[in-house]
Amino acid sequence: MLLTISTTHAPATDLGFLLHKHPDRCQTFSASYGSTHVFYPEATDERTTVALLLEVDPVGLVRNRRYEAAHLAQYVNDRPYVASSFLSVAIAQVFRSALNGRCEAREELARTPIPLSARLDVLPVRGGEDFLRKLFEPLGYSLDAQRYPLDEQFPEWGDSPYYSVTISGTKRLSELLTHLYVLIPVFDNQKHYHFGDDEIEKLLDKASVWLADHPEKDQIARRYLGHKPNLYREALARLIDDEVLEEELTEEKPLSPEVQLEEKVSLNEQRLGSVLAALRASGAQSVIDLGCGEGKLLREVIADRQFQRILGMDVSVRALEIAQRRLKLDRLPESVAERVQLIHGSLIYRDKRLSGFDAAALVEVIEHLDPPRLSACERVIFEFAHPKTVIVTTPNQEYNTMWETLPAGQFRHADHRFEWTRQEFQDWSNRIAERHGYTVEFVGIGPNDPVVGSPTQMSIFQTRDAR
Ligand code: SAH
Repeated sequence: MLLTISTTHAPATDLGFLLHKHPDRCQTFSASYGSTHVFYPEATDERTTVALLLEVDPVGLVRNRRYEAAHLAQYVNDRPYVASSFLSVAIAQVFRSALNGRCEAREELARTPIPLSARLDVLPVRGGEDFLRKLFEPLGYSLDAQRYPLDEQFPEWGDSPYYSVTISGTKRLSELLTHLYVLIPVFDNQKHYHFGDDEIEKLLDKASVWLADHPEKDQIARRYLGHKPNLYREALARLIDDEVLEEELTEEKPLSPEVQLEEKVSLNEQRLGSVLAALRASGAQSVIDLGCGEGKLLREVIADRQFQRILGMDVSVRALEIAQRRLKLDRLPESVAERVQLIHGSLIYRDKRLSGFDAAALVEVIEHLDPPRLSACERVIFEFAHPKTVIVTTPNQEYNTMWETLPAGQFRHADHRFEWTRQEFQDWSNRIAERHGYTVEFVGIGPNDPVVGSPTQMSIFQTRDAR
């Protein structure tokens, strides 16, 4: 079973750095199914190709009880010859860093979309060429597929389910690898191991950011999770629907009602000012802006030398593109730009990149999360990332009655999943503080009405041991 990946991005031999595998070496790794060889059939500055060759040992598989099938089929089957979930295992084992987008030697290149193509020599496709196209094309690949007859000697037997497939596109290497990692078993529609809860985690970990928008996400989740309804329903429910959020950011659109309403009191600026003041007062030197959107807070944070390490994260690629442009990161002096990083990610999955920061800001983000996802987000931030200071802002629903143009009972923005009263926000914050070892204080932002309070509410969490 052979996978080859090629690039023409000069110098193409940099593919070796991206994959952490030297183009001059041939390496072999042992695995539960047999062994995996990595080598480069070609390695020039113009074009470099890496090959991942799996040697699957069917007898060993039966002995190890890794592949459970009946009788003769245990020994005589297509597994040694086709791209199956073993190939995904091999990708995760042999190209782990590249799959996760990590590359110290060529950090910039790992983040850059480059011309890539991947060829799967024999891919079993349950669903035919149409299904191949439906899965790869929405991800931005062009596809070349060649189907094999069942037996060349007997054309009347018709076609086999096996294809040679080449996909090409301008992608980050980590994207291409994750697409292959997830989709190969989906085409094959047979997995070699048993399903557990961590299958959902694996799927979401690798696919959450692109699967939510994929027109075939149902089929992908269903097949990936071995047609177990409880698993794929949960997986689908946990995917973030990014579309609405992205729409919110289109610049041409008239101001959203939320913005129009809030502009009267230039609430946005007051909010940024309050968050910035709280970050400064915390003494933080490193800050993450979670759900940084177009980077309004980041701009202020970057301008203050107190903050030495700054990370902006958002689930919306479009928002990050706008932030990148507005912050002019590529034009800032290196001493400024090197303090800042923008990353694509979702707040509802545990993410190591969020660890080790003094403070985190979550400005007008929680109300965009569905309540079940909010509880995942709480753990991601307060339990796993666990910064010393966390600053959260969200609308105060009680204040909505002050805006005549906002019909009663309606949210300030169509994508808000909830808007909380002060009591609700304080209950939520207190519960988190209690559970994760923080103290919490509350501050109103914007004009303070004696009855309904301020339009925005902010909580400032601090770890107990930091006090
Ligand atoms: N903090 C910014 C943007 C607020 S809008 C500001 O104050 O201007 C809400 C932002 O949260 C959007 O950019 C949206 O893409 C982001 N977001 C929504 N769900 C998210 C999630 N699960 N993970 C990360 N970001 C998310």
